[in-house]
Amino acid sequence: QAKMAGKGRYRIFEPAMREAAQIRLDLEHELRRAVANHEFCVYYQPIIHLPSGRLVGFEALVRWRHPTRGILLPAAFLHVAEEAGLNDSIGWQVLEQVCQQLVVWRRLNPRAAALSVSVNLSARQVMQPNLYDRLMQLLAQYQVPPTALKLELTESTFMEYSHDVAALLNRLREQGIQIAIDDFGVGYSSLSYLVQLPIDQIKIDRNFIVQLESKQHSQAIVNTIVNLAHNLNLEVVAEGVETQGQLDWIRAVGCQYGQGYLIGLPLTADEATQMVQTIELYGD
Ligand code: C2E
Ligand code: MG
Ligand code: MG
Ligand code: MG
Repeated sequence: QAKMAGKGRYRIFEPAMREAAQIRLDLEHELRRAVANHEFCVYYQPIIHLPSGRLVGFEALVRWRHPTRGILLPAAFLHVAEEAGLNDSIGWQVLEQVCQQLVVWRRLNPRAAALSVSVNLSARQVMQPNLYDRLMQLLAQYQVPPTALKLELTESTFMEYSHDVAALLNRLREQGIQIAIDDFGVGYSSLSYLVQLPIDQIKIDRNFIVQLESKQHSQAIVNTIVNLAHNLNLEVVAEGVETQGQLDWIRAVGCQYGQGYLIGLPLTADEATQMVQTIELYGD
C-alpha cells in the first residue's frame, strides 16, 4: 500500500520536476555558450560624493546580453552560473572589461584618473588560489593603477573563508586595491569581528535605506553604521537611494557616499562614458 502511495505521489510531481531540471540544464548549457561567446557586459552605476555631489566612481554590474531574451540581470543567471562553476570565468570577463573601460576614460579625460570602479566578487572567486596573481597581471597588462579598483565582498564571503580572506585582502590592499563590504548589516556576523577585517569601505544594505522614512530602527541602524565607519576611518556608502527623503536623511547623518536609482541608474558603458566627459568629478 505504502509503496503504491509513494509511487502515485512520485508520478504526480515527476513532470514538474523534470521540467524544472530541464530548464536548469538548458540555462547551464546556454551559460557555457555565453561564456565562450563573451555575451556578458558590464553596466556602471554612479557613486556620488554626497557633500559635493560629484562623481567618485561606478559599481560594475554584470549583464547577460542574451541573443534572444535581451539584457538579463544577475538574478536570472548568476546563481546557476555559480553552481555550474562558471562564475569565475564570468568574473574575469567583467574584470577585463572594467580595466578596458578605465583605460578609455583615462584617455578621454585626464581627470578620470580620480575615478574608481567597484567590482563584485563571489565567494568562489575569492577562493581561487591565483586571484592575486591574475589580478595583478590584468592590471599590469592594461596599465591600470590598483587604486582605480575596488573589490566588493559580502559578509558571508568574509565569514566562510575568514582565515585566508584576511591574508589575501592584506596583500591586495598593500598594492592599493581597495576593499568594500557589500550589503552590510544584513548578515549575522558580529560587528567586532567585521571591523577587524582589512577593509576600506562599508556599503550599507539597501534594505535599511528603503525603510529609512518608515522604520525608526532602520534610522538607528544607519546612524550607527555611519558613526562606526567614521570612527574606524572607513568610507561609507548608502546603497539603493530611491527618494529625496532618503537622500536628505543619509546626508543629514553624515554619510559620505550614495548610490541608487535617484542618484543614477546603472548605465551602459557608452552612457557612463558620456557622464565621465560631462559631469564634475570628485577630486577636481
Ligand atoms: P549588489 O552588489 O548589492 O549591487 C546593487 C544592486 O542593486 C544592483 O542590482 C543594482 O542595480 C541595484 N540597485 C541599485 N540602486 C538601486 C535602487 O535604488 N533600488 C533598487 N531596487 N535596486 C538598486 P543588479 O545589477 O541586479 O545586481 C544584483 C546583485 O548581483 C549585486 O548586488 C551583486 O551581488 C551581484 N552582481 C552583480 N554584478 C556582479 C558581478 O560582476 N560579479 C558577481 N559575483 N556578482 C555580481
Ligand atoms: Mg555590490
Ligand atoms: Mg550591495
Ligand atoms: Mg545588494
